Amino acid sequence: MGTIDGDDWYFKIIENAFIKNASPNGWNKVGNINYYVTMGNNARVYSNIENRETIADYNQQFNFRYNKNFSNDKNKEASVTNTFYLINLMHDIFFNLGFTEEKGNFQVENYSGKGIGNDPMTVIIHNYHFASDAVEMNGKDLVRKYFYQNCPFMCTSTPSDGQYPIIHMTNLDYATANHGIIHEYTHAVTRRMSSYGRNDNCFSDGNSSEMNEALSEFFASSIAFKKKNNPTKFGDLYTVPDISKYAHAFGEFFAGALSDAFFLVCDYYRCDPNMLQEFGNMELYELPYNPYYIDLRNAIIEEAENNYIIRDDKFFKCLLWIGFAKRGLGYNANNEIEYRNGNYHYINNYDVPESCKDYSYLI
Ligand SMILES: [Zn+2]
Repeated sequence: MGTIDGDDWYFKIIENAFIKNASPNGWNKVGNINYYVTMGNNARVYSNIENRETIADYNQQFNFRYNKNFSNDKNKEASVTNTFYLINLMHDIFFNLGFTEEKGNFQVENYSGKGIGNDPMTVIIHNYHFASDAVEMNGKDLVRKYFYQNCPFMCTSTPSDGQYPIIHMTNLDYATANHGIIHEYTHAVTRRMSSYGRNDNCFSDGNSSEMNEALSEFFASSIAFKKKNNPTKFGDLYTVPDISKYAHAFGEFFAGALSDAFFLVCDYYRCDPNMLQEFGNMELYELPYNPYYIDLRNAIIEEAENNYIIRDDKFFKCLLWIGFAKRGLGYNANNEIEYRNGNYHYINNYDVPESCKDYSYLI
């Protein structure tokens, strides 16, 4: 696995990468069919949108070398294999974080009989230039047309359970952009998890679209155990006429709050994938349609109260509050806005509940 921008991901050969409880038959088997290509129960990765080509290895080793001095096309086998690896790994990690068959996860065959199958994550790489507007708009491939109109870089489309989601990449470069791939995969998970396996898009308007980006950014960083160091706070956010343009930038504040809370827990408990599991295993069923930041904060706290591991652990719960309070989304934060520096801003609040006062030195 690797990235194009040289951050912490790197290429290495990994054997038996699948996580047994999430993918009991491995990553290449669907029913009795054993695929020798980048297809399996959790993922299908196509290197070419026109012919839906996959990468094949008849030994099922997929041991392709990546050379950063080579062209995209020469690295195609390694890059596409990297995407196949990462999509499967995300399937297995999110499965263990609670995104199971019952919750509408992405699998051809649902072993438990719960949820609807036939919906593996499908990645389509569009590694060439588009034709003219007229030609593209008259094309018969509806998937291609949709992404031509809507996707300048890398995007996700997630229909309801039983219909396969698609990550579309406009260029092979993205096949090694692991942070971006996890970001997109998380969008698909958020969509399914917040809509109970249906296609109700309750995370798309206003603040909720920022939180949607925040969740994707949080997981893309935390799965690689990287901190979000962006100092943005709740009070930095202001009302704008077209929120969609600001969703990624404003979402950084909430991704930062989650990251702060996660790394506090890491520091005081332990910092390993099991901890990520305890932290991420939150269902957020209390969330209203198009939530505000406070709603999502409350749903996470509520989930911790209900979590059988966390609920009796006062310090753990206080670390969550401290993560939020550090970013101005403290106990007494509300949805009021004030006029400041030419815009209407939320107001920072650094309070923690009375029960966490002993730990407020951590803020
Ligand atoms: Zn995004």
